[in-house]
Amino acid sequence: MEFYINGQYIKPENESEIPKYSPVTGELLYKFPSATKAEAQNAIDSAMDAFPNWSATNSKERSMLLLKVYNLIESQRSELEDILMKENGKIISEAKGEVDGVLDQLWYYIGFERKLNGDYVEGDTGMRRIIQSRVPYGVVLALTPWNFPAAMVVRKLAPALLCGNTVILKPSSDTPGSAEWIVKKFSEAGFPKGVVNFITGSGSTIGDYLVENRKVSLITMTGSTEVGQHIMNKASSNMAKLILELGGKAPFMVWKDADLKNAIDTLMWAKYSNAGQSCIAAERLYVHEDIYSKFIQLFKDASMKITMGSPINSSMGPLINSKAVSGTSKILNEAAEGGSKITKMGLAASEKQFRNGFFYNPVLVEGADQNSNIFQEEIFAPVLPAMSVNDEEQLLQLANDSKYGLASYLFTRDIGFAMRFSEKIRFGELYINMPGPESSQGYHTGFRMTGQAGEGSVHGIEEYLHLKNTYIDFSMD
Ligand code: NAP
Repeated sequence: MEFYINGQYIKPENESEIPKYSPVTGELLYKFPSATKAEAQNAIDSAMDAFPNWSATNSKERSMLLLKVYNLIESQRSELEDILMKENGKIISEAKGEVDGVLDQLWYYIGFERKLNGDYVEGDTGMRRIIQSRVPYGVVLALTPWNFPAAMVVRKLAPALLCGNTVILKPSSDTPGSAEWIVKKFSEAGFPKGVVNFITGSGSTIGDYLVENRKVSLITMTGSTEVGQHIMNKASSNMAKLILELGGKAPFMVWKDADLKNAIDTLMWAKYSNAGQSCIAAERLYVHEDIYSKFIQLFKDASMKITMGSPINSSMGPLINSKAVSGTSKILNEAAEGGSKITKMGLAASEKQFRNGFFYNPVLVEGADQNSNIFQEEIFAPVLPAMSVNDEEQLLQLANDSKYGLASYLFTRDIGFAMRFSEKIRFGELYINMPGPESSQGYHTGFRMTGQAGEGSVHGIEEYLHLKNTYIDFSMD
């Protein structure tokens, strides 16, 4: 793997330092480089030097380059799908779905050419005006997670570049391969040198150097709340603008009048897609007591059919690494020791080549307390704690009782009930009688410790633009 700095592929100083293991088989896939401070500085300087010319281009020119990226990805998409299956462990339908998402986002941002408008505001006298123009921030540092390693890269690069910023991308150390592939498409599309830069390396070694750098004006990071907090502290040294898309603990709520088939089908998607490793995954199940037993039985029956193994013909992939496996077991053991009932479901991978993969069977946890870790901490695995409820206020209180506030799901036929929830729930997203994921034209954002700012929609694009004011008096002759 090479770095891409100032329009050139560069042989890294520490060529093969960090091992990457296959989530599907457990074997070593490849080793990749860890950037030194000098290499990180090179990438930052290159982005800084490219900024004046790039920001002086018109958004139509920038959008046309993004269109070339779109066409390159669309025509070569099977390569990216293959990388996603290998390094992330996605099953084939999920890999295809992620590439669909990549293309959808690109298409959406491309459409914003010549639509990045400002305002012309009345001044304090009749002959004065204020021109409020939206201008790019400058050098953007993009830090991406492993769970949607292609979509998250594009969701940051496309709006940042469209708005006239230049970028340094440092992807997750669990999935640098898909980021490297996407950056190649930006290079092939003909983005000017220095506009897009790519380095790899562990966040814990090179992250602070990047985040604290005075030349970085905006940091857009998707990842855990813990790392987001760390970045927020470090970024106080340069006052960089922050876009932080962090953890989730989505409540999945099923009321007594719900369409149970729709609720079960959606829960199967919300809990098991990406093996539960999604920021909008169902992480807590609250079901009305009148239908609790029936619904839980339906969920168990469906979960028993989950298969694992080959990404081509199973219904759920593995966890990302061995640390995720041990972390999930730890929180489950704690719940079991606290007296919860643990029901293991699904069919483990039986073929020999998958026995060392990081697969984790679906698990239902019943009887845990709302204050326990299993109901409060992000699990990020196919594990679901469930609880019965009987009152609207109680349900609302339980749902909002979380340090996270990203996605939430509600199933009911009662429109009044649904609207009251929509008004009172303190989450960035409420899906009523439907699954996610978020749309490109929706503003993906979270309350509380899920972070700051958001991505997608015109509001997400505007996060990459500074609002600047020019006061003008035109009263003189
Ligand atoms: P993570 O461990 O927090 O890492 C995220 C990114 O930050 C990676 O590129 C990581 O690099 C980097 N990083 C780590 N320490 C750093 C530091 N000190 N300075 C600068 N960068 C640093 O998160 P993850 O495990 O990849 O992703 C899973 C998390 O992402 C979950 O909590 C999930 O909920 C969240 N997520 C949120 C959303 C959303 O939209 N809200 C979407 C997807 C995922 P290394 O890999 O090299 O450490």
